[in-house]
Amino acid sequence: MSDLEAFRTRGHAWLESVAPTFGRDARTGLSVEDDLALGRRYQAAKFDAGFAGINWPTEWGGQGLGHLEKIAFDAAEMNFGMPNGYFGISLGMPIPVLMRFGSDKAWAKERVLAALKGEEIWCQLFSEPSGGSDLAALRTRAEPDGNGWKMTGQKLWTSWAQYSDYGVIVARTDPTVPKHKGLTYFWVDMKAPGVDVRPIKLAGGDSHVNEVFFDDVKLTDDQRMSPVGEGFGVALTTLMIERYVATDSAGFGPPIELFVDLAREAEINERPAIEDGRIRSAIARNYAMRAGLEAITRRAMMMMEAGMQPGPEGSLNKLVAVRSRQKLSELAMDLVGTSDLAFDPHASTKSDWATSWLNAPTGRIAGGSDETLLNTIAEKILGLPQDHRPDKGIPFNQIPA
Ligand SMILES: Cc1cc2nc3c(=O)[nH]c(=O)nc-3n(C[C@H](O)[C@H](O)[C@H](O)COP(=O)(O)OP(=O)(O)OC[C@H]3O[C@@H](n4cnc5c(N)ncnc54)[C@H](O)[C@@H]3O)c2cc1C
Repeated sequence: MSDLEAFRTRGHAWLESVAPTFGRDARTGLSVEDDLALGRRYQAAKFDAGFAGINWPTEWGGQGLGHLEKIAFDAAEMNFGMPNGYFGISLGMPIPVLMRFGSDKAWAKERVLAALKGEEIWCQLFSEPSGGSDLAALRTRAEPDGNGWKMTGQKLWTSWAQYSDYGVIVARTDPTVPKHKGLTYFWVDMKAPGVDVRPIKLAGGDSHVNEVFFDDVKLTDDQRMSPVGEGFGVALTTLMIERYVATDSAGFGPPIELFVDLAREAEINERPAIEDGRIRSAIARNYAMRAGLEAITRRAMMMMEAGMQPGPEGSLNKLVAVRSRQKLSELAMDLVGTSDLAFDPHASTKSDWATSWLNAPTGRIAGGSDETLLNTIAEKILGLPQDHRPDKGIPFNQIPA
């Protein structure tokens, strides 16, 4: 048995042993607060068992293993429906960025460990009302204030901000230079005076995204994670990490096996749906697509392990996976028929077709909209001419708003 196989077996055995305490059935019917508390206990147990920070360096509390081990564990973990969603962004982007760009800060190790054990949560404060797809258009500003900074502005769609202790944030520190050049990257204490978090309810019924207002929030210069005016580069690194951390060939919807089970039970013209050519074709196309995406992710992980930068093909992942999840969920709902489509506020996007379908549109926006990803594919993979950029090179404060 290879080392990877041995790790997969060990991980699966551990997940199976804790599933009755933390898994899908244990979570059914819990309030968000109770589920989060269960999630914190799960994260601590995962740390103690040696399955947290699988591919992180040991000096940061990780296991020092490879990216392939991490993908193997993540896939198994997803199937058990563990309460790990609260930590996905925290451990996915802000903390890896902290390890990379804040490693000179004395407090960084303590924060990383606390996040890895689920004691603290970090959010990612990038998007704003006027800066989403075009992140460099953001307007939250940080001005020099004594030895530090004073920040004012508004962020939008910040996942889990209401439960976060800290966040990474990009703010404009110089409006007199072109938009990409006047940004600086900081971390912020979400409990600091002047921070106001207001949850937003989504169509699927949950409120994990928020508006966050900053009113003269004080930052020390030690909270700066990039040279002044060079925050866009650190933000791009964060987004590159996101392309590969946030991958699931099922588009964060149900596994294909669940659709096959449904097609065996449901009927078309009084015959099992699985015998229908269109259903078989949908299953085959979906299977091939998922296998292709998994191969792209595996290749990118192996490149990273070899010290290389993966290419822009990561943009394909979310675009293709979430679109096909939406289509497959729609087909599944057609097969189920109206009798089984009651809305269940506790259902998971990984196991309930209606919930998967209802939440799919947010997946086509979060982490980069379909259109933005299509632009990246057109320009970076296909080498087509650049999108029209009328504000290129113009000082930010001279761009009409
Ligand atoms: C569930 C959810 C969770 C999120 N979590 C976070 C988070 O934790 N932190 C965070 O910072 N952000 C988060 N976001 C925000 C997300 O990153 C942005 O919504 C996304 O980048 C799009 O930005 P926008 O909403 O400002 O839309 P806009 O950029 O205003 O886009 C509006 C429409 O115009 C299209 N469009 C824009 N530019 C172009 C172009 N050049 N060519 C063609 N079409 C274009 C877009 O595709 C879209 O359809 C989250 C969003 C969602 C839905």
